[in-house]
Parts: sequence; C-alpha cells; structure tokens
Amino acid sequence: MAESKKGFQWPCPALPDADLSAHTTARLGGVAQWLLEPNHPDQFVEAVLAARERGFEPRILGGGANLLIADGVLSGVFITTARMSRLFRPADSSVDPTASEEDALSPLLPHLLCRPDPMLEPERQEDPRLVAWAGVGLPGLVRATRLLGWSGFEGLVGVPGHLGGGLAMNAGGRFGDTWDVVESVRILTPEGDVRHLQRDACHPTYRNGNLRGAIALGAVLRFEPTSRAAVEAVVRERLAAKSAAQPLTERSSGCIFKNPDPGRSGGKSAGALIEECGGKGLKEGGARVSHKHANFIVNTGSARTIDVLRLIECLRELVADKTGIELETEVKIWR
Ligand SMILES: Cc1cc2nc3c(=O)[nH]c(=O)nc-3n(C[C@H](O)[C@H](O)[C@H](O)COP(=O)(O)OP(=O)(O)OC[C@H]3O[C@@H](n4cnc5c(N)ncnc54)[C@H](O)[C@@H]3O)c2cc1C
Repeated sequence: MAESKKGFQWPCPALPDADLSAHTTARLGGVAQWLLEPNHPDQFVEAVLAARERGFEPRILGGGANLLIADGVLSGVFITTARMSRLFRPADSSVDPTASEEDALSPLLPHLLCRPDPMLEPERQEDPRLVAWAGVGLPGLVRATRLLGWSGFEGLVGVPGHLGGGLAMNAGGRFGDTWDVVESVRILTPEGDVRHLQRDACHPTYRNGNLRGAIALGAVLRFEPTSRAAVEAVVRERLAAKSAAQPLTERSSGCIFKNPDPGRSGGKSAGALIEECGGKGLKEGGARVSHKHANFIVNTGSARTIDVLRLIECLRELVADKTGIELETEVKIWR
C-alpha cells in the first residue's frame, strides 16, 4: 500500500496533484487530483476498485494520444497504464493475458533485440502470438512484430499510444485496425469482474472498441508469420506515406473528427472537408490547424486546451455551414 501525503492509502504508486500534460502527446492538460500508476494488471484492478471504494470513478489514461484534457484542476482519480508495458510470448496454449507467473513467460523485446540473426526459428512460425499488457506501446508492438517477421499490425505504423487505448479506440486506418489481430482480451467489467473474452464476443466498429465501460487489462494477439524483410518493407513504405500526410513530429492529439458517413460526404474525409471549407492553418492562441493535415490541431508551443476546444467548435461550424455535415469528434475530451 502506498500512503500518500493526502492520507489515502492506494494499492500502487500514487501521485497527488499530478501534471497530466506530460502524459499526452499534445502536451496539454491540467492537474489531476490523483494519478495512480499500477505496474501489473492485478494492481490495476486493485487500483480501480480502491478508487471506486472511495467514491471516484477512475479515468483510464493510456498514451494520451487521442485525448484532450481540460486546463486547470481535474478532480478525481486518473489511472495510467504507463508502467504496464510488458510484452510476452505465450508459454502454452492456455494463455492468460494478465498472467503473473513470470517464470512461465519471458519478456519479449530484450530477447529479440539481442538477437542479430534475422532468421526466424521454427517455433516462432508455429505459435505466432503475443501476450501484451494494456500499457504496451503500439509503436513497440509494430517493432516487435517487424523483428519477428509477423504480419498483421502494419496498419498501425506511426500510430502512438498504448494497446489499451488502441483497443478502446479500435485505432488503425485503411490498412487495418487494432482489433484485427486480437484473439482474446482480458477486461475488468464496470461491475468489477475480471473476464476473459474471445474476439468473437466483442463487436468493435470504426474507431470504437465497444468496450462498453470495461477496462482493457491485456490481450492475446495473433499474427501471420511471413518474413522480417517483407514486414519491414511494408512498415517502411507506410511510415513514409503517413509522415508525408500527417504532422507526426508535431504535438497533437491525433485526428480531431471521425470521418463522416461516405454516403453523406461523397466519400470525403473529415480532413478533406475542413480543407475545402478553408479551415487549414486557422489559429486560436497557440493552437493551429495543421498545414499538413486539416484534421489535426497542433500545439505550436504555447497552446492551452481551451484554444484547441475553440478551434474544434470553429471547424465544426465552418463545415456545418458550408456542407450541412455535422462532424463528430473522435478525440476524447476530459473536463
Ligand atoms: C500523430 C498522431 C497520429 C495518429 N494516427 C492515428 C491513426 O492513424 N489511426 C488512429 O486510429 N489513431 C491515430 N491517432 C490517435 C491515437 O494514436 C489512437 O487513438 C490510440 O489508440 C490512442 O491510444 P492511447 O493509449 O494514447 O489512448 P488515450 O488517448 O490515452 O485514451 C483514449 C481513450 O481510450 C481510453 N483508454 C485508454 N486505455 C484504456 C484501457 N486500458 N481500457 C479502457 N479504455 C482505455 C481512455 O480512457 C480514453 O477514453 C494518432 C495520434 C497522433 C498523436
């Protein structure tokens, strides 16, 4: 139990008055009353239950790559998955994505990285699965599967965030989504039960993992063995295309709006509609609509969340006035 200076006892490291901006890719957001940092799925469950016992419904923070957090003080409990970044190969066929017996599982990335030989071992071909906790970075997963020569996650190239956020948002793009590689997922239900669901029992849709209030603790992911060279070639090509089209090196919260129903928009994406309506480059305080991609708002260095929120409303009105299409936000907004 970690005792804090505010007198609460938490089952994991806990920070009072924590700066949330450091936990988002846009580097925006205020100060959380509590930030809990579990380092194991069991501890994560205990942290959620402890928060609920104290009357707080905790908010789960992944890589903060699709989040816009209000300025100022945010009351309540926030739980980050940042310390839950373990990636394993399954030890046997009965895989528990939150298994705690580490002797049965071996951490994967260090093993891969100290192996210069690109030849795949036969056993890697036989069981092309990974067990990932919720805090494993999506870029780390792309890297691991590239090194293993396993296909299936190349559609996530250049997408920041953690696996838990990727599952919640069903992150991806035209070359594939996070849920495409999910074999099963371990969740904590809103009622407080831990359950292990097969992929077929879940019904993810476009940018929505359909978790229905559940929290993702980890997942078993299944890939298609090919070769390292083949996966690397696809990864390189897609990363180059993504970097050319999106402001990957600037601070942002990813796509602001979901793409509208193609039947209504004539197949135009949210970014194309904003650009056509003259939204590209618009500014509010330190926030600016990206010159590269009109569905991204970048923090030029001095932005506050309020600037981004004003720009979002301005873009929504602009597009609605000129096209009659009401854009729906993809980014999650926490106030
Ligand atoms: C430069 C850039 C490029 C991007 N490109 C893409 C792209 O091509 N395609 C795409 O889909 N997205 C893209 N994004 C958005 C973002 O990367 C994805 O939405 C990603 O899945 C967010 O994951 P996260 O861990 O950062 O989630 P967060 O932003 O931390 O959280 C997002 C939501 O998920 C919930 N959540 C987080 N973890 C869990 C959990 N363990 N259980 C339940 N709920 C949870 C949060 O509560 C919140 O509601 C991009 C973002 C940036 C900054």
